[in-house]
Amino acid sequence: MPGLFEGKQGLITGVFNEKSIAWAIANEVLTGGGKCGFTYMPDKPDDARKKNLGRITKLTEGNPGALFLQPLDVTKDEQLDEVSQRCQKDLPGGLDFVLHSIAFANPEDLKRDTMETSREGFKMAMEISAYSLLAISNAVKDQLNPGASILTLTYFGGEKAVPGYNVMGVCKAALDACVRYLAFEMGPRHVRVNALSAGPLQTISGRGAGVDAMLGLYEAMAPLGRNITHEEAGRCGAFLMSEMSGGVTGEILHLDGGYNIMGSPGRMLDQI
Ligand code: NAD
Repeated sequence: MPGLFEGKQGLITGVFNEKSIAWAIANEVLTGGGKCGFTYMPDKPDDARKKNLGRITKLTEGNPGALFLQPLDVTKDEQLDEVSQRCQKDLPGGLDFVLHSIAFANPEDLKRDTMETSREGFKMAMEISAYSLLAISNAVKDQLNPGASILTLTYFGGEKAVPGYNVMGVCKAALDACVRYLAFEMGPRHVRVNALSAGPLQTISGRGAGVDAMLGLYEAMAPLGRNITHEEAGRCGAFLMSEMSGGVTGEILHLDGGYNIMGSPGRMLDQI
């Protein structure tokens, strides 16, 4: 929406490519007149082509609202400190929004039953997909302006058992709880914390988490009879990160065509 983010600036994490949900939301912020510092997953030292940096550079270059690109692997405390320092330097007016759009689990762990998840794989998935929301929020907490909004991306598999989502569902349950505790703790700073629970979208992470199989199910079962779009995720995310949602905190907003309200297979009953 033109002007929605006029005079606002903040931090966007989780843009991998043009299909990333973070990019759909960033697009809304940028076209709404906002300014963003971006983080991206650092390339491996032996990757001479610097593919991750190349992808995000291609998306953002020439956009006057894109202020910086800063590497961030959320498992590295020193990189979290560097992000905080970069925000202090390049966003001296403070942060009005922070987008956390990060998740990862070992592909082998996602293929296993949840109870067979490896100990190391469980710790890593939890650290990257849930703990990182706390770590990022803590790293930038003193730079958040009153009225600022922190947003994360979650999925229904943290609320109900969704076969195939497995260990990531456990991580999303933890992430949802982090949203509520953070919302309480950030309240005195007048900072809001919410999660957008998106229905399946074709992204790199989504494919790893079994999205392809979910698309048909949502189309058949959701009250709206269709899947959501990247543009809808962008607009809903922008809503939660903007003053339009002032007063909303600790909330998990379902953007899924209504799929989560169903208590029976609905229109699919005929096929059973
Ligand atoms: P994506 O692959 O485009 O984004 C995932 C991001 O996580 C990538 O940018 C990746 O670099 C980043 N990441 C992974 N490990 C990291 C680490 N150690 N440090 C820093 N960054 C790291 O896919 P997406 O679908 O846009 O995923 C974004 C979020 O949305 C995730 O939390 C995902 O679980 C959630 N989500 C996705 C869907 C879907 O259907 N695609 C639905 C609901 C929620």
